[in-house]
Amino acid sequence: MILWFRRKRKFVYWQKPREVYEIAGCSRCGGNNVTYSEYVDLMWCYDCKKEYKPEHWGIFDGPILLELTHMMGIWFHRRNIKTGELIKEDDPRWKDTWP
Ligand SMILES: [Zn+2]
Repeated sequence: MILWFRRKRKFVYWQKPREVYEIAGCSRCGGNNVTYSEYVDLMWCYDCKKEYKPEHWGIFDGPILLELTHMMGIWFHRRNIKTGELIKEDDPRWKDTWP
């Protein structure tokens, strides 16, 4: 018997996964009507109503130059799913807010 646990996220990034962070769209329908899944390492497609594993994680796949992304209006604040609290990048708790 194989026990397989999917880890649930406690936080999601503040901005939109597709438009801002350029995470790949749905691998099933190719659509862009997507958001973060409640599970780590997966995304959610509104059209398929299913989780999917994105082909790539957009800007998270490469080295990120923070100053450059900030100039482009991209931030890595994270929102606590349960409480809705926004933890900004410069918050000392930020490093503990993943996944
Ligand atoms: Zn889809």
